[in-house]
Amino acid sequence: MTRVPLVAGNWKMNGTIKEALELVDGLRPDLDQIEAVETLVCPPFTALSRVSESLSGSKITLGAQNLYWEPSGAYTGEISPLMVRELCTHVIIGHSERRAYFHETDETVNKRIVAALETDLIPILCVGETLEEREAGRTHQVVQHQLQAAIQGITLKTPDEIVIAYEPVWAIGTGMAATSGDANEVILESIRTVLTENFEDRLSQGIRVLYGGSVKPENARVFFEESEIDGALVGGASLKAEAFIQIVHAAHP
Ligand code: PEP
Repeated sequence: MTRVPLVAGNWKMNGTIKEALELVDGLRPDLDQIEAVETLVCPPFTALSRVSESLSGSKITLGAQNLYWEPSGAYTGEISPLMVRELCTHVIIGHSERRAYFHETDETVNKRIVAALETDLIPILCVGETLEEREAGRTHQVVQHQLQAAIQGITLKTPDEIVIAYEPVWAIGTGMAATSGDANEVILESIRTVLTENFEDRLSQGIRVLYGGSVKPENARVFFEESEIDGALVGGASLKAEAFIQIVHAAHP
């Protein structure tokens, strides 16, 4: 089954509104010409509104980095699915930094996934093992468990309604990417297997799975050559227009 590649930039907690707009200005002339690869940027909440205006008429889509699952109410500091949906089509859920620093659990990740889907937002669900778990030979077990817990109780009509990102925690922001072969194997053996157990073929084979963890212009192409890697979730390298553009070009089939 052919899956259209997706390259997503996670800007994390970086950039003022002015810097975000400059970055978008740097991306648009090139990425607006790209047909065969979908592109997505995920700026901080504070920049979403202005970036959304500046992406008007663009092929680049917009995502948030998180949401809270309740629709509204006394949840100081949180952002609801509907608020995100006013500006974005996508939302990153369960990033390892949120699991590690903000105590997100499999249960709260699942609540966020359900809330995103109910609001017509496309979740980019992040799963991945720590170095300790990898060294203990538990990679497949951990990834399968995270994925199964996150998708518990969801139903999908089309494969485009969700994206999975395999992000080994030890590879994020460290410059120490997984080998493309290892990433492909985890996706095939763990992620595709869980998807197959939960969804009919049309869905389980059509859902896109990205690799994330120290993807750079220099190493991107080898990941995209793997059969099970349908794009990338890019952190650090997505903050430089030229680097992100080069990664998108590397994903061009
Ligand atoms: C990420 O934040 O999802 C990520 C993959 O970061 P980096 O590319 O910097 O490793």
